[in-house]
Amino acid sequence: MKIAVLKETAAGETRVSASPETVKKFIALGADVSVEAGAGIGASVDDAAYAAAGATVCARAAVLKDADILLGVSGPDPKSLAGVKPGAWLAAGLNPFGERARVDDYAALGIEALAMEFMPRITRAQSMDILSSQSNLSGYKAVLDAAGEYGRAFPMMMTAAGTVSAARAFIMGVGVAGLQAIATARRLGAQVSATDVRSATKEQIESLGAKAIFVEDVKGIEGEGSGGYATEMSDEYKAAQAALVSAHIAKQDIVITTALIPGRPAPRLISDAQIASMRPGSVIVDLAVEQGGNVEGSVAGEVVVKHGVKIVGHRNVPGRLAADTSALFSRNLFNFLSAFWDKETGKPVLDEEIGDAIRLTKDGKVVNARLLG
Ligand code: NAD
Repeated sequence: MKIAVLKETAAGETRVSASPETVKKFIALGADVSVEAGAGIGASVDDAAYAAAGATVCARAAVLKDADILLGVSGPDPKSLAGVKPGAWLAAGLNPFGERARVDDYAALGIEALAMEFMPRITRAQSMDILSSQSNLSGYKAVLDAAGEYGRAFPMMMTAAGTVSAARAFIMGVGVAGLQAIATARRLGAQVSATDVRSATKEQIESLGAKAIFVEDVKGIEGEGSGGYATEMSDEYKAAQAALVSAHIAKQDIVITTALIPGRPAPRLISDAQIASMRPGSVIVDLAVEQGGNVEGSVAGEVVVKHGVKIVGHRNVPGRLAADTSALFSRNLFNFLSAFWDKETGKPVLDEEIGDAIRLTKDGKVVNARLLG
């Protein structure tokens, strides 16, 4: 069983899909591990560290040759996989909806592409969930990015020259990233409030010491679909939410938006008029910018200024903390493969529940129900 750790091909991807720690663990399971030279550079892991962990470090062609399992963070460019063994697995974050054409290319290569972001949200798969591990650190980094752009302090400070008032931070979308953003903004000393469409988050917001801002008076809204994900809301709810947010947002200094709906463009939460109501120097971080954005006018990869308000749209926020996010991503992949490791045959065998959920391609065809349905 040969496991190949690929150097990422996506522009700006700094993360790596295996750490020296997980390389050692795969070897302990009986696998051979090859790491493409330079794969860990962006995450501050040098080739020598992989070699010391027992991996063979070599060029791409040698890494791919005879590999049974390819590991990646983002989906590799299919052209860069020439020479891969048919039937090999590719386990990575494959962005199946956003990169649909690529899925066909993976099928044509004859590989079994496994999309880690389709991991079902069930208790036993929690340790394999790349969305959770990466979102957690994105929520943290979003607050630091906001603090870096903000020309004022977060905490209240009483100085001999006078008092600096605390920043007011509003977190929109309280999933994994949002919860971490609340906790981080609180630690930095901001006055924090937050909102979501899932009523279950209200208690979570309050338990972190933040104020919950919720639409209370629109009936028939559940807000929660399968797997704890949000569903798209009714027009009535959207209007009520917009009115509530308008009143609240005008008083905020920092806004972090994290709202996503799987398989759909991100919901629009902040309009240009709402941005105009904020005081100059305020900062909005749009963590959904690569899925279409929660904020009108946010631009992926840029910090734009509208009405004196900075709108931060960094791409690949987890990649801005590549050492930590890579370590967690690597563990997610190890936890996944080791949970299914068959000691007798020395290779992983997936069960139906998880296999069917994450498998995009097999035997030259696209097989995933979410892509075919
Ligand atoms: P997500 O990244 O899909 O979305 C971020 C947040 O935005 C969600 O809380 C969502 O409800 C919210 N949102 C969507 N539309 C909105 C709108 N119009 N206005 C305001 N907010 C909106 O969410 P996530 O981080 O993946 O977490 C979703 C849930 O799944 C959480 O309860 C989380 O704890 C749970 N979860 C479970 C597991 C597991 O059991 N394995 C793993 C990860 C997350």
